[in-house]
Amino acid sequence: MKNQELIDYLESCGVCRVCQLRYLKARGSEYRDMQKTFQRLDVQVAAEETADNEIPAKKSRLDICTTCLGLFSKDFQQQLIDGILRSDYAKYDSPGIVLAFNLPMVLQLRQLSMWFALQSKFGASVDSNFAPDVPIKEAVKLILHPIVCTQLGKEYDANGLMINIELRHSTEADDVAQLVQLNKAAFPAQAKHQKRIEISRGLLEKQYQPSRLKAELFKKFLPIPPSPVNDSLELQSIQLCGPLVCVAGRYRKLSRELSHTPWVLNGKRIMEDSIEEIIIRNVGSHFSETPEKITFMSSGREDVDVRCLGKGRPFVLEIPNARCGSLTRTQALAMEQAVDATGTVSIHNLQLVPREELTHIKTGEEQKRKYYRALCVLEQPATLEILQKLQISESFDIQQKTPIRVLHRRPLHTRPRTIFGVKARVQRENPRLLVIDVVSQAGTYIKELVHGEFGRTAPSLSSIIGQPMDILALDVVGIDLDWPSDVNNAAAVE
Ligand SMILES: [Zn+2]
Repeated sequence: MKNQELIDYLESCGVCRVCQLRYLKARGSEYRDMQKTFQRLDVQVAAEETADNEIPAKKSRLDICTTCLGLFSKDFQQQLIDGILRSDYAKYDSPGIVLAFNLPMVLQLRQLSMWFALQSKFGASVDSNFAPDVPIKEAVKLILHPIVCTQLGKEYDANGLMINIELRHSTEADDVAQLVQLNKAAFPAQAKHQKRIEISRGLLEKQYQPSRLKAELFKKFLPIPPSPVNDSLELQSIQLCGPLVCVAGRYRKLSRELSHTPWVLNGKRIMEDSIEEIIIRNVGSHFSETPEKITFMSSGREDVDVRCLGKGRPFVLEIPNARCGSLTRTQALAMEQAVDATGTVSIHNLQLVPREELTHIKTGEEQKRKYYRALCVLEQPATLEILQKLQISESFDIQQKTPIRVLHRRPLHTRPRTIFGVKARVQRENPRLLVIDVVSQAGTYIKELVHGEFGRTAPSLSSIIGQPMDILALDVVGIDLDWPSDVNNAAAVE
């Protein structure tokens, strides 16, 4: 089969120039200067019928390509660009875009029909297993992606703003009905097992090729070669989905009356606000119109009455469908200042992070060390002996039953935990008060470590000194996770 014969035949079947090149297996840039590509492949084609300033020839049904249904026509490209610009596109500030086409199944059926037609015309030179054309899906990437990117002035970026384009065609319903009948006739064994016949695009791709289906049978349901059509593909819908953006930082919790996440009991709010809400309120609105879809994660958490000081606790917001994928230092500083103004939470090191880095927060939690400072009270003034017993530089293990106070939300288990060190000093004004620093494995319940909870935590600091001890206040003073990296947004802005 000569290229010229192939193109002449395709032309007679109403196949457009772009699709003709698909049947010549043209690659990437070869679709840009089509005349040149045809020349190089030794094919004579009539010059482009309509230059821009000419009056186009009267549209006839033959103008619509029988294989792509107008997908690669100039008209359609313009419709597509207009459609994107009419959507919420302007709301998104993303330097990169990616197009996702949802194509009607008729395109695949027509591709198969043309495959049969070529076999019948050119015989064995057309393979039964390997499609004779560059698949439409691939051609869309080669042809439409660059055109749309150029027109919109955007980069192609698989992680950018996703533009979901759904297309339909007037013949889809009828042709798919035919396909259902064809499927019953061609693959009766499969059809018997299925209650409802669902023919997916994947199944079409895999099962519908000349090696597995006879042309004679196909022809009983659908024409070979594909028949001319009266109208081209239409845009059914354009939906936009912004990228997933991750914003990380560290927070300090300055209040003993603030919960980590919204605290709701029996449908009633116990506390007005939470760390999660404060941060999402002040950071999320820059990126998203739907703050309820934002996920807040942190490297562990503290109790309502526990402060978190020192460098603070790493956190990250996972923001789906973000309208904006950037964060300047000035913007970050403004967010940090807005959170600080609450007086209950303070954040710093606010920055965008790649999604892969979320593993720092999600995994290895148990291995991390946490640094605490506890204010504890004894029944009697502290003695030198007690203080000596509470200077522990060797690590030791404890067995900790789930505390009674969290049993309503955590299963009852006994967990081993490692305490890496303990240091204590007496508070000057009151010899019954001890300031105790504890370095522990993440997940240790510190309040129970101090008083022992009737032996449910053993050993406890109370059992080590051999007398009762209670805890008055607790601060987290350090979390050994060096993430995200230090950024001083204030310094950068000055
Ligand atoms: Zn075409």
